[in-house]
Parts: sequence; C-alpha cells; structure tokens
Amino acid sequence: MKRFIQGQDRTQSTLLPELLDEYIAEENPVRVIDAFVDQLSLLELGFAGIDPAQTGRPSYHPAAMLKIYIYGYLNRIQSSRRLEAEANRNVELMWLVARFTPDFKAIARFRKENGPAIRKVCSQFIELCRRMDLFADSMVAIDGSKFKAVNNCDKNYTQAKIKTRMQEVEKNIQQYLDDLEAADVRSPKQSTPHQVRLTERIAMFQAQMKALEAVESEVQSSPDKQLSQTDPDARSMQHRGGGMVGYNVQAAVDTQHHLIVAHEVTTSGHDRTQLANVAKQAKEVLQKETLTVVADKGYYKGEEVVACVANGITPIMPKCLTSGNKAHGLFDKRHFVYDPKSNTYQCPAGEVLIERFRSLEKGRPHITYWSSHCKNCALKSSCTTSDQRRIKRWENEAVLDQMQSDLESMPNAMKIRRCTIEHTFGTLKHWMGATHFLMKTKSHVSTEMSLHILAYNMKRVMNIMGSVALMKAMAA
Ligand code: SF4
Repeated sequence: MKRFIQGQDRTQSTLLPELLDEYIAEENPVRVIDAFVDQLSLLELGFAGIDPAQTGRPSYHPAAMLKIYIYGYLNRIQSSRRLEAEANRNVELMWLVARFTPDFKAIARFRKENGPAIRKVCSQFIELCRRMDLFADSMVAIDGSKFKAVNNCDKNYTQAKIKTRMQEVEKNIQQYLDDLEAADVRSPKQSTPHQVRLTERIAMFQAQMKALEAVESEVQSSPDKQLSQTDPDARSMQHRGGGMVGYNVQAAVDTQHHLIVAHEVTTSGHDRTQLANVAKQAKEVLQKETLTVVADKGYYKGEEVVACVANGITPIMPKCLTSGNKAHGLFDKRHFVYDPKSNTYQCPAGEVLIERFRSLEKGRPHITYWSSHCKNCALKSSCTTSDQRRIKRWENEAVLDQMQSDLESMPNAMKIRRCTIEHTFGTLKHWMGATHFLMKTKSHVSTEMSLHILAYNMKRVMNIMGSVALMKAMAA
C-alpha cells in the first residue's frame, strides 16, 4: 500500500469538524446558481407560495426548489425522483438548499405548477447576459430541431395510420376466419383446442377493430386530424428520413457567444412559418434597432421574409427552388434577369419578357411575363415545352431579390449558421438523453425546454467569463 496515494481513514474524527461550505470551491457552479436565484424577484416572476399559508405544514421556499431544478438541469438530472436522491447524498445540492430533502412529489409539483414563472427565469438570465454586453453582434442564427415527446409512435394516430392499421386487422381477421373454416371442415362436431384458439384470436382482433373505430372518430373530430394518446399536444413529424412523435423546438442563437436568446416549442412539423416569430422575439430580447438573421432554406417563405424586413430584421437564407425545370434540363428562374426600372425580364437568349397580366396565386398577387419571340428561338428546347416561356413574379419579390444579393455579399453566412446553431441543438439533445422530454403537453414541455436552455446558457457564460466574474456581474 505504500506505493499508492493514501486516502483518509473513514473512522478518523477531527477536533474541528469541517463546514459544509468548505466543500464548495469559490468557482463552483452551485455558487452561481445560488447567487442567480437569490437576486431574482420570485414574487414578481409569479412563483406560487412566496407568502406561506398561516396554517398547515410549512412548505419549501420556491427559491430552494428552483435551485434544485437549475442544479439538476445543469448536471443532466431532470427526473424528480433522481433529484430527490441527489438531495440526500450530493454535497453540492446539500450546500445549495441548506440540506432540504424534499420528496420527488414536491419537486415534481413545483415544476408542474410554476411553468410560466420558470420560463420567465430563463428570460431573466438572457436579460442578465444582455446587461453584461454579451450580445455585441446584431446577428442570430435561427433553426429548429425535433425533440421526442413522451408518446410512443404506436399511440399516435393520423387518418393514414388508422387506415393502414385497420387494413392489417381486417386481413388478420379474414386469415383466422379462413383457418377456422378449414378446421371446422376437419372436425365438424367437436370444438378442438385449435378451433377454440382461433375463435379467441378472431374475438381479439374484432375488439381491436372496435377500438380503432373509436379512435378514428376521435381523429376525425380533432382539428388537424391527428390524435396522440399519451401526450395530446405531441405531433407526428418527419425526422431524419423517418417519423417521430414530438415537438419542433425553434431557437435563435447569437453568433458571437452562441447563447440561445429566444426559443419556442411548436407542434409544427416544418420551419416555414416560424422565421418572423422567432426573429422578432430575438430582436426584442436583444433590444437592437436592427438584427441580421441567418437560417437555412427550410425557412424560405416570402411572407415570413417580408414580415422580418417590416420589423427591421434582415433575413439571410438560400432560396428554396421548388420548380422542376432544372430537373427536366430547362432553364430555371435564375437564368432570367429582372430589371426593376423597366419591369421586364431578360431571358438567356437576350429577349425581353414584358408584363402581360396580373393574377392571384394562392391568394398572393402575381405578375406574369413573357416574350413574343419564343416561337423562333434557338434556345427554346432548353427553355420551355410550351408555346412561350412564362415567368411569374410575386408582388413583393423585390424583398426576396434583396435577400439573395445580401446572401451573395456574405458568402460565409451558411457556415456561420451551421457553426452557431447546430452544435447548440446537438449539445442540448446530448444532455437530455434518449428520452427527450419527461413531461406532457406543450405548456409543460415548454417549461422543461426553458430549464434546459437556462442550464445551457448558464454553463456557456460560466465557460466564457468564469463563475467568479459572473457572480460579480450579478451582484453589480
Ligand atoms: S424560349 Fe423565349 S424566353 Fe426562352 S430563351 Fe427563347 S426567347 Fe427567351
């Protein structure tokens, strides 16, 4: 044993017992949590139980419960049962909450009943970062990521899923009926164990069919024709070439320090309608006059771009090409150059396409252009299969043209986007583990997400400026 580093004898007593505080170093993150929660006005934030009831058993102070949760999410311990265990054995947590040992029900109840207030705590930390000038750049990257809900795929029904499931059950019933018929021919007088088993199977599938019919009527009555039985707000979404039941979390991350400045939990399976909403939230939080937002082409939607520009936000994202012309070996719209002065397009053959008529396409005003020289054009086979090539232009397309030129003048925009936001979601998912959310319904899931994001931002700021400096800034 002499060749190894020796530990202390467990039975050794000391004349002056060590204080719990001595176990917690000055730069320990629990001191940051303690300082952060202590400077919050929990009453203003809306936490329940700040004024204790005059009667009954005294309750735990909301500050202590909030500290437990922030500590838990910072250390990848999100479950209330595991937090209960940690409160009993973890020296840091003992120090943080003065050796309170609430049971898991009290811990879980706090998170369930104080959702809006907890979400405001997340915003308070962002506000603190803003006051510390951590958002010097007026630029954010926006992206969305799908997070699994507490809802098995088999417990989620859409019209298509129900139809497939019913067809399977019908097929099974028919199969067993055929088998039973054959068995009846072999033994017409007596019920053999095989016949009994077949009859039971048929009854089981018939019961399944009845249950599916009941689910089908629920699906039909739901607004988006979808039903999730465990978490009613979770929705079926496309994810990495497959499907999943969950939520689409949108986030705006600042490009300087990679802090999440705004987020929103949505049930939308795509990102197309999210840009303006998240960008406006980010601009409000950062309190900037102008804001540049980089996003991927999944966000490309004219109305969203126009809404951003109207609010002083400059969106930058690549165009989403939906036309099939390129696939068919024909010129696409990028080959036609618009001249705003003359309100005409110039085609690859150098001909001028003039305005012909105005129309509404899916409620959006469009102008249609074409040239009178297509018939005899040498490039016609590469341009159109019709009599003439028509180009449609949305009324607000100048905004999209401007965005394209902004993108071209900033060639590293997509690299900045990728480096800013993709690892953020990756880190969050890594911390959350295989089962992403523990709570059900969108409002509770939003609370959970806020805790994750608060923990992420807190850890990030501690890495950027150090725990001691962060505590000093809080006290200032
Ligand atoms: S077909 Fe018409 S639009 Fe196309 S290149 Fe020729 S003239 Fe231009």
